[in-house]
Amino acid sequence: MTFKTLDDLGDVTGQAVLVREDLNVPMADGQVTDDTRLRAAVPTLTELADKGAKVLVLAHFGRPKGERSEANSLKQVLPALSHVLGRPVAFIDDCAGAEAEAAVAALDNGTIAVLENTRFHKGEEKNDPELVAAIAKLGQAYVNDAFSAAHRAHASTEGLAKVLPAYAGRAMQAELEALEKALGKPVKPVAAVVGGAKVSTKLDVLKHLVAKVDHLIIGGGMANTFLAARGVDVGKSLCEHDLTGTAEEILDNADKAGCTVHLPYDVVLSKEFAANPPSLRTANVHEVGADEMILDVGPAAVEALGDVLKTCRTLVWNGPMGAFEMAPFDAATVALAKTAAALTKEGSLVSVAGGGDTVAALNHAGVAGDFSYISTAGGAFLEWMEGKELPGVAALEA
Ligand code: ADP
Ligand code: MG
Repeated sequence: MTFKTLDDLGDVTGQAVLVREDLNVPMADGQVTDDTRLRAAVPTLTELADKGAKVLVLAHFGRPKGERSEANSLKQVLPALSHVLGRPVAFIDDCAGAEAEAAVAALDNGTIAVLENTRFHKGEEKNDPELVAAIAKLGQAYVNDAFSAAHRAHASTEGLAKVLPAYAGRAMQAELEALEKALGKPVKPVAAVVGGAKVSTKLDVLKHLVAKVDHLIIGGGMANTFLAARGVDVGKSLCEHDLTGTAEEILDNADKAGCTVHLPYDVVLSKEFAANPPSLRTANVHEVGADEMILDVGPAAVEALGDVLKTCRTLVWNGPMGAFEMAPFDAATVALAKTAAALTKEGSLVSVAGGGDTVAALNHAGVAGDFSYISTAGGAFLEWMEGKELPGVAALEA
């Protein structure tokens, strides 16, 4: 795919540039509790401000459903954004309309200003052309820097790209380049690790990946459904027995596509869902007791999976291999993550991972910084793993 970046923007001195960012940060007691998304916005905002543009930041916050409310005001995010930027940030009380236009006209060149929550307008989520035109009146160019909102065709994520010259911001550019390397035009062989709780939440991911990758490593709770489909008695394990037919179909399609599916052959078992339980044991998948649960992939399988990764050049990972929140069921995830990180550091593997719990698990393993790219985009990352076209990205295509 091809798209324009800030390098194509030319001289922006005195121009008002509308920049879609993701400022939808978690908050508690009026404080931002995780500023990852704010830090991701810094390169684009400072670059444009330093080039002398009036930088108009567009973002949504919460789910105000088209109504103004203090609880969903972006004003609350200003101190934390200003802190990560290391410079003051102005605030404009609306993202469209005559008052906003006057406020923009009064801004000095090089100022960063946050415009109030786009979702205070009903037209935002409807991608209403009238709202798109009203926002577009504020600026001369549009930059989309929020990959995490790109799976929605909203006024600020898709509509504006159609009516203004549109560019990818630095964070968007980095994400698209990483994703392109991982699944768009990857260096082969490609491995995918798919884990997590349920097959049902990742059916489309699995269906898409079997046609794309050379090795599909299935772990986590969803492996149990595949094991059950192969006739394994998984005892009390989390298992979607109604989906064993679907699992079989996926295995058949993998076979036809030349994709090798790896299921665990040894597993870590427990009778209770608790940390370090007395009933903890490791066994072959064919030896699961009727009263036992599979809570992690076993050590022998993990070692074999590490050997698979050593033969691969590209890895895309979504979903933990076990119930990693409880010791020792984090072991497989941590071990495989460390192998992937080491191979990446050696330069033999391009590794891209994403997903809420996956990012938490890789942080827990202490290796998130060693992966080639970690996506914090959540829903948009999963839709990309499903092979779907993201409207906000498609609208940037040059
Ligand atoms: P992500 O957020 O990265 O997409 P998911 O939400 O799909 O990942 O899955 C994460 C959850 O899966 C974790 O809460 C983890 O405890 C759970 N899980 C993984 N393996 C198992 C298992 N064998 N049994 C039960 N739950 C599991
Ligand atoms: Mg999750």
